[in-house]
Amino acid sequence: MRTINHFVGGQEVAGKSGRFGDVFNPATGEVQAKVALASKAEVDAAVKVAAEAFPKWSATPPLIRARVMYRFKQLIEENMDAMAQIVTAEHGKVLSDARGSITRGLEVVEFACGIPHLLKADYCENVGTNVDSYSVRQALGVVAGITPFNFPAMVPMWMFPIALACGNTFVLKVSERDPSAANFMAELLKKAGLPDGVLNVVHGDKEAVDAILANPDIQAVSFVGSTPIAEYIYHTGTAHNKRVQALGGAKNHMIVMPDADMDQATDALMGAGYGSAGERCMAVSVAVAVGDKVGDTLIDKLAPRVRGLKVAPGTDPEAEMGPLVTRQHHEKVKGYVDLGVQEGAKLVVDGRGLKLQGYENGYFLGGCLFDHVQPHMRIYKEEIFGPVLSVVRVPDYDSAVKLVNDHEYGNGTAIFTRDGDAAREFASKIKVGMVGINVPIPVPMAFNSFGGWKRSLFGDHHMHGPEGVRFYTKLKTVTSRWPTGIRAGAEFVMPTMR
Ligand code: NAD
Repeated sequence: MRTINHFVGGQEVAGKSGRFGDVFNPATGEVQAKVALASKAEVDAAVKVAAEAFPKWSATPPLIRARVMYRFKQLIEENMDAMAQIVTAEHGKVLSDARGSITRGLEVVEFACGIPHLLKADYCENVGTNVDSYSVRQALGVVAGITPFNFPAMVPMWMFPIALACGNTFVLKVSERDPSAANFMAELLKKAGLPDGVLNVVHGDKEAVDAILANPDIQAVSFVGSTPIAEYIYHTGTAHNKRVQALGGAKNHMIVMPDADMDQATDALMGAGYGSAGERCMAVSVAVAVGDKVGDTLIDKLAPRVRGLKVAPGTDPEAEMGPLVTRQHHEKVKGYVDLGVQEGAKLVVDGRGLKLQGYENGYFLGGCLFDHVQPHMRIYKEEIFGPVLSVVRVPDYDSAVKLVNDHEYGNGTAIFTRDGDAAREFASKIKVGMVGINVPIPVPMAFNSFGGWKRSLFGDHHMHGPEGVRFYTKLKTVTSRWPTGIRAGAEFVMPTMR
């Protein structure tokens, strides 16, 4: 059986803890590999390697660092199919979606290629007589990234390209459910000319995460995952005096106004609700129908399409939806569908009975559609993270906005309407970090920053884009005066300009 090792100091390093995790093929339910789970000592050893690599890498001119990113981008493009296969084999998502997610990660690499420009400093001449001052942003040191299962390539690429381009060295701990893409990227970075020790991958579970949070040489931690863990990472990391950005879970609402183009809204709900089997933090899991007429129309249009979803292994070119990631997650999502029925929501399409011939042990679940979901129900309040769309009916626009604003999560939201006034008011007033107007999954591009509000993000910085550069650098301001022949004399009061 294949073993997935750590990647430290530019080479694969076998696990020494004696602990391994199973990596499943979600389409068949078979164990396809074992992943080493790092002990605290192994994490500390990787951090030491990263700390030793930092002085040289941070002193490397940004243009040279950018060139490594250029070569990395080229290598990913050349190896796109192989990388998508790796993502699909362990995550289960369909190949075209795997390629799409890698491409979105690659856009952050492209952004990081502009690092010489992004790090350009401010200079103020003559802030006092013959006194000049300038501000620069400098690398932090060793930084760490901890990432979720649902984007094993893209989410790490939200982090390390910018961190490395800024001059930091990196310790990456990806999800133990689909760990191979991280090693693949580390190999490509090495081929791209990244010096050994600048990016290190340690695999593991809570033990590795806790070692990262406690290690005094790690200056900052970027986390993406579920809200309870994000909150834990934020509090523990900041208690250890680290800078932390911790992105959590979501329950994204799409409001459909009576004047919306219903076919366009239905297409949007299909893609955003069921794409990647709903395992996206920006998936739409709640359709808010403004008025019963909208509710009835949406259900009429959605139900046959949800029933007709082509569910198959991610490698099937016809597949629209692959399996869920693990048996445990499959059970959890199915359990929420059972719960919704008990809570009294109307299950219009029930995907629980789906069986695929030849893949009876795979973690497949058909698309599920609930109508008449009420805000007090757990299926409304909690993140399900599967192919389950809830329709909530509200009487008017104000009730729709209140629903979104009252929810504990605030990652993404969208409104579908032809009314410019309503759209503008919505964008301005809604308490959510990423907003779409007739765009169901408003994921910001790499040169903007990604992040939610409320319990979808703990910390002050969103991810990638300008916020990424700020997160991975600290500001230094230098004030200088060169001898002019005039002595200022000893000054015992605050220097002021008059
Ligand atoms: P998760 O929180 O279970 O795991 C995320 C990471 O934390 C993994 O690397 C895992 O090994 C580690 N971890 C798990 N349990 C831990 C513990 N008890 N202590 C310390 N570390 C622990 O998340 P997941 O199931 O891998 O991913 C799905 C979740 O991620 C969903 O909630 C989804 O909304 C969220 N997500 C959010 C965003 C965003 O941008 N906000 C993006 C993608 C995914």
